[in-house]
Amino acid sequence: MLNGKVALVTGSTSGIGLGIAWALARQGASLMLNGFADRTAIDRLRQELAGSCKIQVGYSAADMSKPAEIAAMIEQATTELGRVDILVNNAGIQHTAPIESFPADKWDAIIAINLSATFHAIRAALPQMKARNWGRIINIASAHGLVASANKVAYVAAKHGVIGLTKVVALETAASGVTCNAICPGWVLTPLVQKQVDDWAARESISGEQAKLALLSEKQPSKEFVTPDQLGGVAAFLCSDAAAQIRGASFSVDGGWTAQ
Ligand code: NAD
Repeated sequence: MLNGKVALVTGSTSGIGLGIAWALARQGASLMLNGFADRTAIDRLRQELAGSCKIQVGYSAADMSKPAEIAAMIEQATTELGRVDILVNNAGIQHTAPIESFPADKWDAIIAINLSATFHAIRAALPQMKARNWGRIINIASAHGLVASANKVAYVAAKHGVIGLTKVVALETAASGVTCNAICPGWVLTPLVQKQVDDWAARESISGEQAKLALLSEKQPSKEFVTPDQLGGVAAFLCSDAAAQIRGASFSVDGGWTAQ
């Protein structure tokens, strides 16, 4: 379905971004990976993806908190792979604390990486998508883009911002072949969430398995984690022709979290 297309997935060395990268690669899209990991792991990942999906795989080490590096990443993808047709803004970080003790530098970093990076990447990639009259922009928001939880002031603010930004870009591209949508996952067991499971286990003096169930039970009625593969499937669908008129939508994939 995506043969000849090029997808750039930010934060694709781990977790959800990696699941989405695999799903798009399986559909035939060449990839520009991004995110932090050691060089050996990145080289191995590139070989695995290129070998099993018969695609080209590039890598950018751009730091999503730095606008100039984001612009350079789009340029690098365009030079090395010829174009950027699909942009998945996925890189993200988390920090939890009540607002009075929330470190100001964590606020700045979360807003920069989880929200502003999405603006900078879209701004740089959109002109070429418009010129070809085809593009897919997928922003990984969160259930926390739709509802709030205590102790996550920066994350919730950033993710609500991503959903607003998604709607604006969808309107500005509505008369073109470029679409912009958000995916709002519930709990996915990635390193970002494992840390919260570990914190919960330490705080309540319970096992990791008990902490996982407690975390799920609090918010996610299915009591099952969403998987990166499932999110990859949703992203691939948003790249399909069937999704050409889905514009400005926020797809909840959250085990019922926000249905409550
Ligand atoms: P993760 O920690 O497994 O992966 C994060 C990725 O972002 C990694 O590749 C990391 O290297 C990269 N990254 C972090 N800071 C970066 C920076 N400054 N520059 C470039 N890359 C950077 O996390 P994840 O759970 O897969 O999260 C991915 C996205 O999904 C995030 O936006 C997160 O907010 C969102 N999300 C996660 C969950 C969940 O339950 N895990 C739920 C909803 C939304």
